[in-house]
Amino acid sequence: MIEVKNLKKSYNEVKALSGVSFSVKPGEIIGLLGPNGAGKTTIMKILTGFLHPTAGEAKIGGFDVLQDTASVQAMIGYLPENAPLYPELTVQSHLKMMADLRKIPQGEQIRKISKAVHAVGLENRLTRPVGTLSKGFRQRVGLAQAILHDPRLLILDEPTNGLDPTQIAEVRRLIGNLAHRSTVMVSTHILSEVEATCDRAIIIMNGRVKADAKLSELAATSDAILILGNDHSPEKIQQILTEQPGVEKTEIVHRSVTRTTYHIHGNSDQDICPSIYQLARHHDWPLCELKKEILTLEAVFNKLASGNGGAQ
Ligand code: ATP
Repeated sequence: MIEVKNLKKSYNEVKALSGVSFSVKPGEIIGLLGPNGAGKTTIMKILTGFLHPTAGEAKIGGFDVLQDTASVQAMIGYLPENAPLYPELTVQSHLKMMADLRKIPQGEQIRKISKAVHAVGLENRLTRPVGTLSKGFRQRVGLAQAILHDPRLLILDEPTNGLDPTQIAEVRRLIGNLAHRSTVMVSTHILSEVEATCDRAIIIMNGRVKADAKLSELAATSDAILILGNDHSPEKIQQILTEQPGVEKTEIVHRSVTRTTYHIHGNSDQDICPSIYQLARHHDWPLCELKKEILTLEAVFNKLASGNGGAQ
């Protein structure tokens, strides 16, 4: 659905993109993730034909963004970071105006507007001027206008920015629903957003792709967390654990009166939990918990930012 090759963009001396490449298959929900100023909006503006790249190629559904801009724009629904809305228009008039601009035939407009209104839950706000709506409902109007023409690709730039937690949960649910009909690309610098909505994350830092993988792969580690009751000497256990094949080192990360928590660092891709479990049984250690250590996306992000890992 999206094919981006070696995309570069400079704003005078500011290098916003330094050779970005990635592809997205139909039906995927992709999170474009990165800190402020990473280049996410620049990528989205190029994909939607609003901005020319300095170099490189971008194709949507096989059409070149620069050469077939009109065909590309007909395929895309775009929700920019601050969706431009006319506050004095009612929701209904706003969507009617967008349907006209999208050149949706008059005979199809009522059906398409109703479908979009229903998809984002705006039925009870149709006669309200947009300017009197809460931010969450204005965002829904932005989403409704983005999906009016049944786009094959939906590009959403920071769709939950500035919303309260209830509105965030609501917009995320809507995005999940919209993904049943379109490929979706969501940009954000909120890691939990990607965790909640996306199949795959493309992490952009300083205008480059730092990682492109499923969230589970990005978060995977070869480490284990072990919690034991305090019947034995924790230092002795730490030593035994560290001597195991596949273990690089063991840290005692928490001690209470009754329990000790060990972080066991693996030194290969192999899951060390089965051998740790056998070891605990063999020594008759009082096992309270044993689990694979999964990184939070915050930790993934910090790891990539510090230079330990990266796709390009
Ligand atoms: P944010 O999360 O803050 O929206 P972003 O990842 O979307 O950030 P971009 O808006 O694409 O980042 O900006 C990438 C870089 O390009 C930044 O250094 C930004 O300051 C710069 N930039 C963006 N637009 C312009 C412009 N019109 N003129 C000059 N520099 C720009």
